[in-house]
Amino acid sequence: MPDIQIVNCHVHTFTGLHTPKDYPSRWLRLFRKVPGLIRFAAWLARFFARYETADMLDRLYRFQQETDRPEQAELLASVARYYPSNTRFVVLPMDLAGIGYGDVPASLREQHDELNRLHIARPETVVPFATVNPLNPGSVDESLRALTELKFRGLKIYPRLGYPPDHPALMERVYPEVQALDLPVMSHCSRGGVRGKNVSHYTGDRLTEPEAYLPVMKAFPGLRICLAHFGGEMDWRAYAQGEPPRSGSNWQVKIRKMIGCGEWPGLWTDISYTLFHFDDYIPYLRLFLLADDEEGARLRDRVLFGSDFYMTRRQELSERDICFRLRNALGEEVFRKIAEENPVRWLEGDRPQDAT
Ligand SMILES: [Zn+2]
Repeated sequence: MPDIQIVNCHVHTFTGLHTPKDYPSRWLRLFRKVPGLIRFAAWLARFFARYETADMLDRLYRFQQETDRPEQAELLASVARYYPSNTRFVVLPMDLAGIGYGDVPASLREQHDELNRLHIARPETVVPFATVNPLNPGSVDESLRALTELKFRGLKIYPRLGYPPDHPALMERVYPEVQALDLPVMSHCSRGGVRGKNVSHYTGDRLTEPEAYLPVMKAFPGLRICLAHFGGEMDWRAYAQGEPPRSGSNWQVKIRKMIGCGEWPGLWTDISYTLFHFDDYIPYLRLFLLADDEEGARLRDRVLFGSDFYMTRRQELSERDICFRLRNALGEEVFRKIAEENPVRWLEGDRPQDAT
């Protein structure tokens, strides 16, 4: 193994304690109480030759086993085992209070504090990010505490929960601090994922789409914003099938254009989750990243490796599988760029001649 140090820019370790009781539905609460039930349902489905349902239930079981681990440390350990021991992980918390699915047992402060303990225990491995949901009272203050007092290494936002990326509290209080500290921002940018209960698909898409970041990038040109998931699985599928996206533009195309044109040097993207549909999308990613023109060069400088563990536990390929396949398909040089060089530039802000 060469001396590469992989940075996985996108993993989660939040647990059942940080998730609303009724999310994603009341049914899961039942499954949580009686985990055997889900296995029994899978067995039943298999018995009646409903193999797809059975597979889905198996994956749900694995996913639920992950989220029900009581400690963030255990979740970190279960992703770290797929990677070389010197790998670093950007850990992204979530503020899921007040999204309409009931109470969250542990506060955001407790979640940040636990993540901080994890960072102290494994400083070489854990890159902690703070999160904020400006709709929740106290969340902005808590995110600023994590950034300034706990010295977390970046900020995670999740507009799909019900707020725009240019929400006044973010624009006036949070981004100025993030920019002053020269820290990166990660944002969820796909049509899937968690949505506030009162947020329609349409509204969720408007809050999430790449265009929604234009006011932020104009006001904070120094901010390094990563739109996670490279537009998301749905838009990659629509692109591959030549179909229009659910609404608005195709986000995969949009992100490529925005990065490729060179007008938005603060814009980054990661390939987490989306590329777990490996066979379907790797030929496209390969072409985009290996393109021998200016757009290709700019994109190569702005794509980050990430996995979205443990969301990926619902997928069939393991983290190790994806890492090796990516490396194989993209070649050592480009893999090293997205998994080692770019993450360091995104995290630490050392930006050499952008997009020349
Ligand atoms: Zn994620």
